Amino acid sequence: MTSAKETAFRVKKVVWRIETARKTTQFLSFVLFNLVIFGLGPWPILLPVLFSLGTPQKAAGDAFAMLQWMLQDHVFPWLPLASFLLVAALLGRSLCGWVCPFGFVQDLLGFIKRKHTEVSLRTHGGMVKVKYVVLMITLFISGTLAISLAAGVGQSYKKAMGVFAAPFNALSPADTLFAILPRIALDVRYSSFETLAAGISSVQPLLWSRLIIMAIILVLGVYVPRSWCRYLCPHGAALAFLNRFSFLGLKRDPLKCTKAGCRACVEACPMKVPILDLPWEKFTDPECIYCLKCAEACTTKAIKPKFP
Ligand code: SF4
Ligand code: SF4
Repeated sequence: MTSAKETAFRVKKVVWRIETARKTTQFLSFVLFNLVIFGLGPWPILLPVLFSLGTPQKAAGDAFAMLQWMLQDHVFPWLPLASFLLVAALLGRSLCGWVCPFGFVQDLLGFIKRKHTEVSLRTHGGMVKVKYVVLMITLFISGTLAISLAAGVGQSYKKAMGVFAAPFNALSPADTLFAILPRIALDVRYSSFETLAAGISSVQPLLWSRLIIMAIILVLGVYVPRSWCRYLCPHGAALAFLNRFSFLGLKRDPLKCTKAGCRACVEACPMKVPILDLPWEKFTDPECIYCLKCAEACTTKAIKPKFP
């Protein structure tokens, strides 16, 4: 085997190993979050990943969903906050790349089309801010509700908000996908045709809205990889903000990097991180989910994780 061929073979082996490890971890996490399938009970683990609190039993819970539930009952959300801060300090946004069930679904959707829609840098730069708006609106409603409840004047506010007292939970596409759709599927399975027809005609506008939002997001994920994570997810926004303070980061060896003619890492990145414009000693870009696709794509192995 020539040395060029040997190098290509070795790179292929590494690519296979990292991507296989990531996909296996994502799959096992997905099973962990859905342990109800195997009749196993819940553990008190809250993680900053997008899932649902709508399923009756799970081994791990969604910290942001829990934060909203606790605030609407004016309980200080110390556990969800601790989960966000601890995970972000140690691992940055890597749970998005390796653990999040909704992130896994989006990675799978990305396989449907070989050629994806290219989003211009300008549009991308504007769109990444939208998720911070979603986060701010959610925290504003939950925060003001908790304060007014604590002051003893929030009951009418809570009543007026209805299901939107936990605003993001009310429309979360993960909740629709992982909790509501399975329930609908079970209803369909055990219902007669007449009951089903009556059920469909009485479906609430909120449920239609949820289904439409989820469908749009899933279809978008087929065309633009990780579009939900890049542009809309409030968990992603909170973790992106904290990511820059993380112990975990990436480094790029300037002696191995042939920056001028290559850009393989930048092209492989699903989050459009401008890797070559970031400091080589260590970079912790808000959008980086530590999927290591850039490290895989680099033929000279110039990119590696760095901790701390
Ligand atoms: S950005 Fe949101 S949906 Fe995407 S992986 Fe992170 S927590 Fe999950
Ligand atoms: S910079 Fe690398 S590790 Fe981070 S999201 Fe992009 S490809 Fe993944």
